[in-house]
Amino acid sequence: MITDGHNHTKHFSPDAGQSIEELINEAKAKGFSRIGITEHYEIDYPDDGLNWMFDLNQYNEAFKEWRKKAGNDFELLMGIEFGYQTHVAEEIDKTASLIPFDVVLLSNHLFRGKDFYVDRDCYKLPKKDLNKEYIGIMAEMCEKCDNYDVAAHYDYINRYTDNLNNFVLYEDCPKEFDRFFEALISKEKALEINTKSIQKHKERGFSRTLPDPDIINRYKEMGGKYICFGSDSHFPGTFAVSFNEAVEYMRSFGFTESVYFKQRKLYTEPL
Ligand SMILES: [Zn+2]
Ligand SMILES: [Zn+2]
Repeated sequence: MITDGHNHTKHFSPDAGQSIEELINEAKAKGFSRIGITEHYEIDYPDDGLNWMFDLNQYNEAFKEWRKKAGNDFELLMGIEFGYQTHVAEEIDKTASLIPFDVVLLSNHLFRGKDFYVDRDCYKLPKKDLNKEYIGIMAEMCEKCDNYDVAAHYDYINRYTDNLNNFVLYEDCPKEFDRFFEALISKEKALEINTKSIQKHKERGFSRTLPDPDIINRYKEMGGKYICFGSDSHFPGTFAVSFNEAVEYMRSFGFTESVYFKQRKLYTEPL
């Protein structure tokens, strides 16, 4: 079985619309017995009226109840998804040790301090410049932070573009991708294949949907071994979306295992 290591619930993520019961039931119905819950935690996020941070102790307590509800034959991994900005790197590293997380994800949801879901000015930039700057921040994030396990959705930047050819390619910014991978590989962190990105590309009619093969080949060529899968589900019906396709795709590059984290230790599972 492959773990879906990236999911949200409405109990702690302000943009999610599913309860823990709905998520667990859907995972069980789809044949999964281990999932990661990775609620949003954005330090110093631009004010949009939503609460992007939560009480860590309440979260820790909630997991005691949730694990009872899930039952003995179902594993709930307690994770967190930190939103990176340059000035919060140290705070992320500190916060990640405050409660006993199973897994820590790092993400970059902002471009020049703005949420591009709301403010789409960044899409006026030439595609190469946009991707280069965004992947450059992903590299910086993985270099500056140490207390994490996974770099999530490297391709998030093109999720809201109107240009359906605006796909993140290795050739857009090879130096930035190499820095990003070098940091991940030297620190033994994992690269997430975000299946929500694949699903969004499909729904929106992008010219391509799966990650650029040059990106995956380069990661592998540089010695990257640790990949993991996350559907980033926020609403009922979206757990493990496009999983089979993503797994099949990664197998085609010669990957034979994926990873998940429990008590911050890396475990492998056959693909
Ligand atoms: Zn995210
Ligand atoms: Zn997420």
